[in-house]
Amino acid sequence: MGSFYDSVPVSAIVRIRDMMYSVKDPFRLDQGDVSFDAPETFKQAVAKAMADNRTHYLPTTGIPPLRKAFAEKMRTKNHIPVGSDDEVMVTNGGTHGLYAVFHALLDPGDEVIVPEPEWPPTMAIVQTAGGRGVQVPLREELGWRWNIDEVERAITPKTKVLYLNSPNNPSGGILTRPELERLAQIARDRNLWVVSDEAYEDVIFNGEHISIASLPGMYERTIPVYTMSKTYAVTGVRVGYFAMKDAKLRERALKIILYTTSNVSSIAQYGAVGALEGSQQCIADFRTELKYRRDMFYTGLQEAAPGVFSGTPPDGAFYAFVKINAEWAKNAGITGDSLSWAMAEYLIKHGRIGCVPGLDFGPSCEGYIRFCTCRSREELTGALASMKETLSRVPAR
Ligand code: PMP
Repeated sequence: MGSFYDSVPVSAIVRIRDMMYSVKDPFRLDQGDVSFDAPETFKQAVAKAMADNRTHYLPTTGIPPLRKAFAEKMRTKNHIPVGSDDEVMVTNGGTHGLYAVFHALLDPGDEVIVPEPEWPPTMAIVQTAGGRGVQVPLREELGWRWNIDEVERAITPKTKVLYLNSPNNPSGGILTRPELERLAQIARDRNLWVVSDEAYEDVIFNGEHISIASLPGMYERTIPVYTMSKTYAVTGVRVGYFAMKDAKLRERALKIILYTTSNVSSIAQYGAVGALEGSQQCIADFRTELKYRRDMFYTGLQEAAPGVFSGTPPDGAFYAFVKINAEWAKNAGITGDSLSWAMAEYLIKHGRIGCVPGLDFGPSCEGYIRFCTCRSREELTGALASMKETLSRVPAR
């Protein structure tokens, strides 16, 4: 197993994060880390848990009040028919949730249908679980959604799981109800599991968020995976969760959580209870501000780099996944084996602007680049000004 990990890639997001630490005064548009402060309800509950000496070992799958609160949230907000609180498991963020879920589901050689583009750790986690991710392109001309005929064609006898990520990181594409209904029908007909990664359920500007597990008969074959990271601006605190109806899978997942973490941090879990019990106003406030930042960034990009990047503002999530004008880059001498890497390295080195090359999100995303628009207005403004200055210095050839 040790040497197997030599074949597992490190996500470019992490490689770039490490690169950014050596950049002086960087604009951190590389990682999806919202600039907001966590709600007071979260912070106060963490402080109280510490003052109350809640610093000891906990049940592996989470403290009862938190599992209860998550079960209730999934029933009322996501309309998922979660039965008992035992079906809910608390994880170290969504990453750990996906790790536990794929490790519980997959046997060697099993295939998982994954969107392309997709947040890179998903493919790597599937790989660490012995599976193989099979990427099916999201079509930019369809608003970064699947042509579902292509999904059907990618299913083989080895396909075990359909992984959905709506809204999608990095494209912001959102699956509609008719599309989810068709995917649900395919899952039932082909006897597939569905892993539904709903990390951005609260970051939707156009359209609505629908959990596929809420569709008739789907919860039994769907594992919805959530994180508090984005919704409550607590990316570093690490609280995620999923719901699993199947008792056998749950036994496996419990062991995976036990042997990877024993239990999620006690104070993080009490903080999460505080956030869920308190006002949810921050979610709407964050969304309003994120929409403003999205629009500000897209407008600013036209001014800072006219003709260099193209793309329309996404319906959800908080990234600008834009196409690089290859002709412009060639004329500017920004070239290399990978256009998206050459552009990303150029912007980081000369403009201090963090960004992630499209290639990392799937081979067909070469030529695109991702900027994160959830940073503060000041940081976005600074990045755009730096981009304007940097690109205006590029010698035309
Ligand atoms: N799923 C997707 C699609 C994501 O973009 C992320 C974070 N960027 C996660 C899951 C996991 O987030 P975390 O581990 O911070 O909860």
